[in-house]
Amino acid sequence: MTSTDPRFPAATAPRTRTVAELDGHLVECRACPRLVAWREEVAATKRRSYADWDYWGRPVPGFGPADAAMLIVGLAPAAHGANRTGRMFTGDRSGDVLYAALHATGLASRPTATHRGDGLTLRGVRITAPVHCAPPENKPTPTERDTCRPWLVREAELLRPTLRAAVVLGAFGWQAALPALAAAGWEVPRPRPVFGHGAHTTLRRADGGAPLELYGCYHVSQQNTFTGRLTPAMLREVLAAAAASAGL
Ligand code: SF4
Repeated sequence: MTSTDPRFPAATAPRTRTVAELDGHLVECRACPRLVAWREEVAATKRRSYADWDYWGRPVPGFGPADAAMLIVGLAPAAHGANRTGRMFTGDRSGDVLYAALHATGLASRPTATHRGDGLTLRGVRITAPVHCAPPENKPTPTERDTCRPWLVREAELLRPTLRAAVVLGAFGWQAALPALAAAGWEVPRPRPVFGHGAHTTLRRADGGAPLELYGCYHVSQQNTFTGRLTPAMLREVLAAAAASAGL
């Protein structure tokens, strides 16, 4: 259910013609009262080691070209990572792992991501999230996930002409991405494909358009990477498979 408080108007994800226009609207979104409060509180109080940073403290848009052939779907911005830097997976340990793997597979120009303006570019890949604002304890509620869905649907619709593969990081992202991709025009099989690391399914289109090769991958969270549940080699393998499917 969406708030009726005028300070938190519903997410509308207007039917913009370009990804850049969509991002311009997204960064103004205030539809989730709890997340608006949290992202702004974190931005005001800061972590001591980032005291001299001017935190972003707003919804974090997708990062990567508007004609991407491959989409990476995460979970949500980290409080002192993307919520600080304003760019997906930039400035935290999860991003360190992801961008190193993207660089190793030829999809990122650099192995590190520190801040917007660091010169990092992605080749044919766009990184986004089903929830665009940092949630407390990295845990959005189902309501917040559903409230944010229109943004992912519109982003997927705008990418549709070129999009051929997607990698979803983690079960939360998988649960969020499937209905969004269905709303954007791909056919999701019933029963729904089950998330798992290395899961792979093909989403066809009723209109005869190009299918989407969908891959599951454990999230690049510290919990997974520190414990070895997800190793750099495992991540690179999924990224490489998706990139090959996308023709990258
Ligand atoms: S999480 Fe999404 S819907 Fe909620 S305030 Fe942020 S951008 Fe808007």
